Amino acid sequence: MPRIAAHHGLVPVPVDIDLGDLEPDLECMRSAITPKTRMIVVAHLFGTRTAMEPIIELAREHDLMVVEDCAQVYDGGDYLGHPDSDVVMFSFGSIKTATAFGGGVFRMKDRELMATMRQLQSAYPIQGELKYLYKLLRYSAFKWLSWYPLLAMIVAGYKILGLPYDKIFNGLAKGFPGPDFFDRIRTRPSSGLLSVMLRRMTCYNKRLLDRRKRKACEMLDLIDGQVQTPGREAREHSYWVFPVYVDDPQRLIGRLAKAGFDATQGDSMAVVQPPDDREDLVPENSQAALESMVFLPLYPAMTGRGIRRMARILLEDVQGDQ
Ligand SMILES: *Cc1c(COP(=O)(O)O)cnc(C)c1O
Repeated sequence: MPRIAAHHGLVPVPVDIDLGDLEPDLECMRSAITPKTRMIVVAHLFGTRTAMEPIIELAREHDLMVVEDCAQVYDGGDYLGHPDSDVVMFSFGSIKTATAFGGGVFRMKDRELMATMRQLQSAYPIQGELKYLYKLLRYSAFKWLSWYPLLAMIVAGYKILGLPYDKIFNGLAKGFPGPDFFDRIRTRPSSGLLSVMLRRMTCYNKRLLDRRKRKACEMLDLIDGQVQTPGREAREHSYWVFPVYVDDPQRLIGRLAKAGFDATQGDSMAVVQPPDDREDLVPENSQAALESMVFLPLYPAMTGRGIRRMARILLEDVQGDQ
């Protein structure tokens, strides 16, 4: 996202967040605003939802656009962004809730802006149907791979050959590799993708979300405040992901791997760095948080037993430090 802003001649400026509720710090946001500021972009993180009213109020004082990035908080269509946000963005990318393996939806307040964007978009090439079909097949292969005996065999094969199997899977799962980034994001969806997106939006099974939240709460009860989690003070949390803060992420990831749990450190995330003349805006909380975060493999289909086993490893890890 910062790369896209920079590509259009904008300078991305970070606003630090509060580690408890993951909301941007309003004072920090206020001090980041200069006469050159054009817009405020709020990314709701991990499934938590930032209160937009104070931010919209601040934007009005300075005549700024408000852009809401809802990629991580899609909840089957209940939350469609704040009505006063200028732009609200949703993602149906491959790692998102209700994925369609690509595509996104924007809601714009201003009709003229929407017309301009439509016109620009109409010049983009349309994604080939076969290309989309290939993508569907590739991700279906993932689904088959998640059949445990097959996965175990492949991983064992990679290990025997001394190859880093996690990197290979990461490469397969990621959306936009390579230098042709801007060409790749400037495509219109194929009709296949559009129908899958429509299906996801209209038939999303919200019970899956409830189950995801329930599993997260089970885990929170088990770790009982002994392991710190980002967003524990958030007013709303749908747990798109379940990260924890620990002193030594690699040690915990190793311990979890030994027990068969595949945790990661979220390598695809980065903290935006301030421009050279704004050292006062170094987002120290966000930086420290990202360095100490481990994302747990907590998903709706997980059994209570699996969650208890994972919680025990977490507790042992933090208690060992004391
Ligand atoms: C995934 C994500 C995006 C990108 O969405 P795409 O549909 O892959 O372009 C943008 N912002 C946030 C916060 C995301 O989590």
